[in-house]
Amino acid sequence: MDRTGDTEHGHGRTPEGSADGRAAGRPGPQGALRSLPAVHRLARHPLVRQATGSLPEGWVTPVVQEVIAEERQRLLAGAAPRTEDTLAEEVARRLQRLRRPSLRPVINATGIILHTNLGRAPLPEGAVEAVRAVAGGYCTLEFDLESGERGSRLDHVRDLLRLLTGAEDALVVNNNAAAVLLVLSALAAGREVVVSRGQLVEIGGSFRIPEILAQSGARLVEVGTTNKTRLSDYAAAITEQTALLLRVHASNYRIIGFTASVPLQDLARLGRQHGIPVVDDIGSGLLFPQPEPVFADEPAVTASLEAGADLVTFSGDKLLGGPQAGIVVGRADLIARLRRHPLMRALRCDKLVLAALEATLREYLDPEGARRRVPALAMLVRDPQELERAAASLAERLQRRLGKAAEVIVVPGRSQAGGGSLPGVELDTTLVGIRTAAPATRLARALRVGEPPVIGRVQDETFWLDPRTVPEDQWEPLVQAVVAAVERVAASPAARGER
Ligand SMILES: *Cc1c(COP(=O)(O)O)cnc(C)c1O
Repeated sequence: MDRTGDTEHGHGRTPEGSADGRAAGRPGPQGALRSLPAVHRLARHPLVRQATGSLPEGWVTPVVQEVIAEERQRLLAGAAPRTEDTLAEEVARRLQRLRRPSLRPVINATGIILHTNLGRAPLPEGAVEAVRAVAGGYCTLEFDLESGERGSRLDHVRDLLRLLTGAEDALVVNNNAAAVLLVLSALAAGREVVVSRGQLVEIGGSFRIPEILAQSGARLVEVGTTNKTRLSDYAAAITEQTALLLRVHASNYRIIGFTASVPLQDLARLGRQHGIPVVDDIGSGLLFPQPEPVFADEPAVTASLEAGADLVTFSGDKLLGGPQAGIVVGRADLIARLRRHPLMRALRCDKLVLAALEATLREYLDPEGARRRVPALAMLVRDPQELERAAASLAERLQRRLGKAAEVIVVPGRSQAGGGSLPGVELDTTLVGIRTAAPATRLARALRVGEPPVIGRVQDETFWLDPRTVPEDQWEPLVQAVVAAVERVAASPAARGER
């Protein structure tokens, strides 16, 4: 403790405290305010100094002020004063948080493979290496080594995308929402876009087809009804103002029952008859050519092009299993117009994304290899029997380490593809459940704030882990995190307001 600080005790009052001098001597909140340490005094507390390290004072002071201001509010609300050491600890904790990354790896034990909040697709090893190779230095982002002249950043993935999809040309932007915005802005601004009422969907909370259309400056012409749209509805809506016919994959939901929609072939034929391009926003972007039953209902990029779509838009980080990106493939003349549009500059992606995307696409040159090496695909096609064995083995390891502190159970369950992909597809899995004397929500919280953070599911008073999304090299950290969290939950009584 910095004893010299004591000589400054008189400064311990905050301006407000001093102004409130008439409260002096009276017990209660106003009196207690006078015990608040001064900013410079708390800033010199050894604990704070230690946590400050090389941080400039200008960044430390606001944190100290924040903690003192919060303490003042507590005191005014009638709470008991905390010691200066406790306040210093709080400041130190917040300063240390500045140094700890906020974007941190987590163990995804939810079984949701393309979990948007947890970063969607984990990259293939080759893509991680490709990012590493270009991240720390210079690269050929827009440089042609042969001619020594300026190249295009799109060239790195263009040929691969053409080869893998059979499209004439291809272009990449930040995400699929950007791809759709670019297509509509470049090809339909000030004109009309015809969309079925059954496809005016919202995806991921903020991507709404009518809003993106409005943003692009195109006018939406709705046809059909929510459950039924016929080719004649589209035909009747076509005028000389029509710029595009847009089909949107209703990624995250299904209309079932009394329904009718227009096959893409028919829509494409109608578009050709009128000279109007047909754009197919398929969302997930399945490139995998192997006939796997789980992919049966998911539109594949090649199938959409073969059916006659002039442009197809899809995400890089859904079923494709790569980085966040939006990909447009299709007619070269249309792609050329997208490339020239001013938005292209605003929506272009950076070298890290292009490196990861190129490496991910390369995996698809060997489809059997892609099935093993693209984690999103590998997790999707995992064999239920292998998952059952994995769950049993993980549960056994957990029970052995937890002893009597928890009960570990193994039951059949379901995983989800996530990311708006494969809605309604049930992926059989085997879940590992953990029950302790404390509520499962408390264990879930302890696991979230532990190191590494573990995210699972809570249901039926049980915390559930799905081994589908936990590679075996994460098992040991997972087991250790669970043991630590169970111990912590057992040691501390439930805090008030804890969820
Ligand atoms: C997911 C999705 C989008 C948005 O893609 P992002 O890459 O998340 O921007 C757009 N359209 C459809 C049909 C989708 O499924």
